[in-house]
Amino acid sequence: MSELRFDGRVAVVTGAGHGLGRSHALSLAERGAKVVVNDLGGALDGTGASTGPAAEVVELITKNGGEAVVSGDDVATPEGAEAIVQSAIDAFGRVDIVVNNAGILRDRSFGKMSVEEWDAVIAVHLRGAFLVTRAAFSHMKEQAYGRIVNTSSPSGLFGSFGQANYSTAKMGLVGLTKTLGLEGARANIRVNAIAPIAWTRMTESLLPAEFEARFTAERISPLVAYLAHESCETSGEVFSVGAGRVARVFVAEGPGWKQDGEGDHTAEDIRDNWEAIMAEQPYLTPTTLGQQSGASLKAML
Ligand code: NAD
Repeated sequence: MSELRFDGRVAVVTGAGHGLGRSHALSLAERGAKVVVNDLGGALDGTGASTGPAAEVVELITKNGGEAVVSGDDVATPEGAEAIVQSAIDAFGRVDIVVNNAGILRDRSFGKMSVEEWDAVIAVHLRGAFLVTRAAFSHMKEQAYGRIVNTSSPSGLFGSFGQANYSTAKMGLVGLTKTLGLEGARANIRVNAIAPIAWTRMTESLLPAEFEARFTAERISPLVAYLAHESCETSGEVFSVGAGRVARVFVAEGPGWKQDGEGDHTAEDIRDNWEAIMAEQPYLTPTTLGQQSGASLKAML
């Protein structure tokens, strides 16, 4: 089987100074991509800034014979996001791949969460992915080619105590992925999301110590490389990935309950048919809003 190469391709990886982003940047560069290594270089809560971590990754890539440039810009501001994509255009003349990976944490139980903690997390994960993708999207449409990988999380897909801000942002990225999957289709722009689990500074205090050796960042990057490759035709999907396992995660709708005959159902009907409403099998996996409403219409006939 042929190797997946990225020669001639230009990738932007946000938050690539540490953890997963660092591993993605190194892996794409090793396979021939020219890489913009973006990182604000702050602490886990997003405070502070330094170009040190991104510069170290660029140094490593160039030492290994690859090409990369540093971007110390903030994904969460329109100017920062534009500057990140402009770094790719200025240094390498194009942008083919965006890996939206930058992230911070401000965990707090919901009752105690401040507006500032909510806004800061939504700004980096969700607004940041929107802004960087928006900056790259016009270039991708013009060249009729693009690959975008968003970083969601099991916390968003399944919920996580103390992470209302983070899980909301991460599920928001699923919506962005699904809609951009549709909007990018005609221009050969494929958009997917990963929901990883790996041992990084973000998770080292949460995961059991025995996870460190198996849940490595390097075990996330092969999926990102495949989703970023031109041979990947899949779009609008979400994949759970960690410790060597990769699985599609899909939003499904149960068969549902429908009142017999005409007329409106009551709240009591809902109560009395709760088991059927909650049933999972046989489920549907609509890939568009149209498919979903079509299935509902069909059930009514
Ligand atoms: P990390 O802290 O090592 O990496 C995040 C990077 O993003 C840091 O280098 C940080 O400096 C950078 N960053 C933060 N704010 C930025 C901004 N405004 N602009 C540019 N860069 C910024 O953590 P990680 O675990 O490698 O996380 C990477 C991504 O994966 C995040 O989006 C995270 O939410 C997601 N994720 C991680 C896990 C996991 O198990 N590690 C699980 C689910 C999702």
